[in-house]
Amino acid sequence: DFISGHVGWIEVVCGPMFSGKSEELIRRLRRALIARKRVQVFKPVIDIRYSADEIVSHADVRMRSEVVQGPAEILTRLDWRTQVVGIDEANFMGQDLVGVAQQLADSGKQVIIAGLDTDYMGRPFPPVPDLLCVAESITKTLAICLRCGNPAKHTQRLVDSSDLIVVGATGMYEARCRHCFDPGA
Ligand code: ADP
Ligand code: ZN
Repeated sequence: DFISGHVGWIEVVCGPMFSGKSEELIRRLRRALIARKRVQVFKPVIDIRYSADEIVSHADVRMRSEVVQGPAEILTRLDWRTQVVGIDEANFMGQDLVGVAQQLADSGKQVIIAGLDTDYMGRPFPPVPDLLCVAESITKTLAICLRCGNPAKHTQRLVDSSDLIVVGATGMYEARCRHCFDPGA
């Protein structure tokens, strides 16, 4: 954790699906609320499968959030008094998130971003790799491999599709370790 002053910064929480990114984001945002900071939370419109006005973890931990079409809308919806900005599903936000996150941090905000670092093929998932480069703090969360029980850094797609984005959760994806991950499956 950082000592809060008037200086902003960027924290990124990344890893595969089911690794606890959303729960870690919510944990940090709740601590900010306990510290009486003003918090705003955003998620992309593509991810309204569980709730339109909340971020929801796979274990059903929830927190109120605002839905945006993209990074530019974060700036238009931002209350200038907000001190802490949470952003979930960064991998669905698009490349402009890198500039927006920096603009927020430069203006003194604490920016906490969660997202997938790799896609279902194990490739870097834009814009998360670039966010890691501009972040002050990086946390990589691991899930549990459903095949063998080891720490899992991969998101295995179980359904047949070559689309980069197939929105879904249990049944469509599962966490796999380096050994059990099979991008060709
Ligand atoms: P993410 O945002 O990274 O997809 P979530 O925060 O939504 O992850 O969910 C994390 C929760 O998912 C865990 O606390 C656990 O209860 C549950 N879970 C389900 N499958 C797994 C798995 N394979 N490994 C770890 N946690 C899992
Ligand atoms: Zn495994």
